[in-house]
Amino acid sequence: MLPRSSSPAPLFAFDNTYVRDLPDYGARWQPEAASKPRFAALNRSLAHALGLDEERLAGDEGLAVFSGQVVPPGAEPFAQAYAGHQFGGFSPRLGDGRAVLLGEVIDRAGQRRDLAFKGSGRTPFSRNGDGKCALGPALREYIIGEAMHALGIPTTRVLAVVATGDMVRRERALPGAVLTRVAASHLRVGTFEFFAAHRGPDWVKKLADYAIARHDPALIDQDDRYAGLLDAVCRRQAELVARWLGVGFIHGVMNTDNMTLSGETIDYGPCAFMEAYDPATVFSSIDTHGRYAYGNQADIAQWNLARFAETLLPLIDPDQKQAVERATARIVAFPAELDAAWLRVMRQKLGLPENTASATVDRRLIDDFLDLLHRHQCDLTLAFHALTETAAGNPHAFSRVFAANDAEAAAWRTAWEGQRDPALLDAMRRANPWLIARNHQVEAALEAATERFDLAPTERLVAALRAPFTLDPALARYAEPAPAEVTAAYRTFCGT
Ligand code: AMP
Ligand code: MG
Repeated sequence: MLPRSSSPAPLFAFDNTYVRDLPDYGARWQPEAASKPRFAALNRSLAHALGLDEERLAGDEGLAVFSGQVVPPGAEPFAQAYAGHQFGGFSPRLGDGRAVLLGEVIDRAGQRRDLAFKGSGRTPFSRNGDGKCALGPALREYIIGEAMHALGIPTTRVLAVVATGDMVRRERALPGAVLTRVAASHLRVGTFEFFAAHRGPDWVKKLADYAIARHDPALIDQDDRYAGLLDAVCRRQAELVARWLGVGFIHGVMNTDNMTLSGETIDYGPCAFMEAYDPATVFSSIDTHGRYAYGNQADIAQWNLARFAETLLPLIDPDQKQAVERATARIVAFPAELDAAWLRVMRQKLGLPENTASATVDRRLIDDFLDLLHRHQCDLTLAFHALTETAAGNPHAFSRVFAANDAEAAAWRTAWEGQRDPALLDAMRRANPWLIARNHQVEAALEAATERFDLAPTERLVAALRAPFTLDPALARYAEPAPAEVTAAYRTFCGT
């Protein structure tokens, strides 16, 4: 029967490969319905990129969907299984304890995207958790995801945040929320670890074939495709972490369950952008030993990728010794690869041309600058932005960062002026943001939302962060570092 002309098209054109191809890799599960939902955020630009009807999403129909009250036609909610190394120790059963994958859609660019809820109630993977999410952490994920996206850094993004009308019990009672996350996929290193630990190579192979079809289709017909998958994941992570380092981003919980195969940043819990440059910076209140400090992120990425490689060993070569040798060689190559990506990022920031011959002097120049920032406790973002301004001919920019009589800084500047290429000014402009999501601004926005359900500060902040490279005096307050006493005490708490 043809649909009646009055019946509207489905809100989403779901096509759910994960539940279709891997029905045993988790459990079908219905989200819980919120009692009194209202929108806390709707990401219209993302809705547009997904080819969705923004007006319908913004209305009652969208609210009913994003609050779990109505499972939209075509959605097949599914809690995914995964394991993970958390702070170095193996947790064999994690999984979507407060999340469900709703389904997959194809966006306007032709890319397949997961839509998933977080905070939609208990699942078979919840263990002792309540399956809920508080409004503040949900909005943090929205804000930081939009900031990262605008900076050009691969990231999952939040499509909607709905306040449920229910309270969640944390150290104190907090308003609850459900967020809808959009991701290139939710395949994690931890997904592979789960099936390697509990099921064996045939299951890992099926998962790897799925991952290849989804993220690296060029490998499908290659005999060596599992080594190829390891290689591709390493390449994406090298690029991603180098980009994080360039903007001072600290993920905070780089557990293997929070590392994607897609190369997108995922799970914005206790994360933050560094202000004063210091590689030892840690923000997470639970990271007491600094495992996930800014300056450790490259090493941790390699450690996580080694865990990924281990799950693929039986697929890489039937001869275990051969497999170990090949996987080890790939993992051992990772630091140099990340370092090369980092050098590329830093050269853009300084306006230095790509040139193999000058790598050593360029490195020295970069290291010397970072060392100056460290010793003078300079704000990373503003210092690099001042270099762009200096290159653009602003005579005051450099002295806003370093005192005019600072001989070391002056000597560095002379060396830099001799090495940089004036033709790369535009590249510098694109590499050195003026705005990052500053912790005190993020906290103020989250507090207004949590205490008064005042979403205006969040929306103003997100609007500003969407144009991070443009200096706009009207937005100057967003560019200012936090007062030192705020930064010293700043800790972000786990995304619960
Ligand atoms: P995360 O720290 O958000 O990366 O989560 C790590 C693991 O803990 C995942 O398996 C989550 O599903 C689970 N988890 C975190 N918070 C909760 C919660 N409130 N209820 C149930 N599971 C949770
Ligand atoms: Mg996680």
